[in-house]
Amino acid sequence: MPDSNTKYIFVTGGVTSSLGKGIISASLAKLLQARGHSVTIQKLDPYINVDPGTLNPYEHGECFVTEDGAETDLDLGHYERYLDTNTSQANNVTTGKIYQHVINQERAGAYLGKTVQVVPHITDEIKRRIRLLGHTGKYDFVITEIGGTVGDIESLPYIEAVRQLKWDPDFSCIVIHLTLVPYLAASGELKTKPTQHSVKQLLESGVQADVLVLRTEHSINEDIRRKVALFCNISTDAVIESKNASTIYEVPVMMQEEGLDQVVLRKFNMPIGEEPNITQWKEFLHRLKNPKRTLKIGLIGKYIELKDSYISIHESLIHAGAVSESALDIKWIHSELLNDENVAEKLGELDGILVAPGFGERGIEGKIAAVKYARENKVPFLGICLGMQCAVIEFSRNVVGLKGAHTTEINDKTEFPVIFLMEDQKDVTNKGGTMRLGAYECAIEHPSKAYDTYKKDLITERHRHRYEFNNKFLKDFAAAGMKATGINPTGKMVEIVEIEDHPWFVGVQFHPEYSSTVLNPHPLFVEFLEATIKEKV
Ligand code: GLN
Repeated sequence: MPDSNTKYIFVTGGVTSSLGKGIISASLAKLLQARGHSVTIQKLDPYINVDPGTLNPYEHGECFVTEDGAETDLDLGHYERYLDTNTSQANNVTTGKIYQHVINQERAGAYLGKTVQVVPHITDEIKRRIRLLGHTGKYDFVITEIGGTVGDIESLPYIEAVRQLKWDPDFSCIVIHLTLVPYLAASGELKTKPTQHSVKQLLESGVQADVLVLRTEHSINEDIRRKVALFCNISTDAVIESKNASTIYEVPVMMQEEGLDQVVLRKFNMPIGEEPNITQWKEFLHRLKNPKRTLKIGLIGKYIELKDSYISIHESLIHAGAVSESALDIKWIHSELLNDENVAEKLGELDGILVAPGFGERGIEGKIAAVKYARENKVPFLGICLGMQCAVIEFSRNVVGLKGAHTTEINDKTEFPVIFLMEDQKDVTNKGGTMRLGAYECAIEHPSKAYDTYKKDLITERHRHRYEFNNKFLKDFAAAGMKATGINPTGKMVEIVEIEDHPWFVGVQFHPEYSSTVLNPHPLFVEFLEATIKEKV
């Protein structure tokens, strides 16, 4: 009896990290989806943190939040942006989660006196997590991306789990291995040796790759394909070239040209059928590559040394830019280096200002200076989460006249705690997974810019924060010109603020960037850019 009708595709990586397994996985998923299959993508992360929620963005970039409130790896953001479908708790598994479960089971006496070991107990739990998505009965394909690089100590149990599953007659799976083919400029040659070694290393763990995807800066000729195929026990048609692309959104088209989806279907003995048209995707690419104008958008944050820290915001801007055929010149501006004296010089050339989410004191006064500049100079402004909180602080200090107003996250002695800890956060001591997380409803007031944007009375958006607007100050704010135009219907938390007397000044307590996709760009980013276009002329 087959385990389920779901087919599993494992994606492993070799030679170096950062080759783009997430993008290859998402591109393949897109192509299978375009053929009418239901697909989801899962990420297995070999680190011991239970989730990336407690990680500093400098470690692995942004923490992506799913609709059901999981704090996850940023690759899940790519999966959602490509597939235009939601992921969930089950789509991101870490070693921390695996061990936590096994140890809890052991404490509960579930192993009946047995010695608990990596094989079989940890690998069994890994396999259970892999199968979970298939067992929902919702998917024809589950693509499971294994983080890290083969040979890493940390990823060994995952590779072992894949080995066991490959041998399970009731489990239908293939392995795609992604490697690098470096170009040696001195000899003008592409080198396949690292790939051969990497495939062998995987083989030492008992796993034979079925498909190879070769990342390269130059085209791979037939000779190289044949050579790699011969040395790596792979059919020539299963050696796929993945050349550097000008945008990550080009990769599905390149993979379609290379026939990655076809080779996968052949490996599963499935009918190939007709080549699907990915027309909408191609139209998006066309608009992206043929812009009518360039917009200069300042992204003000404190983790800008690692751009992955703001990857969903960056991608949301790109999606929205394509709507109005605008290229984006994103200026990454370090909030620690901004102050009231230099802000005009540093932000003067911008068409729009976006103040990013964040935590803690570092760089916050720079963010507040950026808000003030945007407000006073009528530059379109979007504040996200901490960015919205900074907008509230700035307005309270400089317009409402509440001197020293602050968020209690930074000054819990302030006389005017305009942003303060949510009631249900007051007794929380554990840091992991305890924020207000995932999707919550928001009722939109009208008339407002928020209503013009969403054109709906009720929306849901994803959250990740502990602090919120202090409703005690609502009246004073409204009287001074900043209105709460989005409110959580049950808890009455302020979700959106805006300034009436400004071309476009919107702060949101939630994270719109988590739900923008290629085919459905988020309306807040679209309207923000529309406002910058209007103000520019
Ligand atoms: N630090 C703020 C809070 O916890 C904002 C969080 C964020 O920007 N994601 O409320």
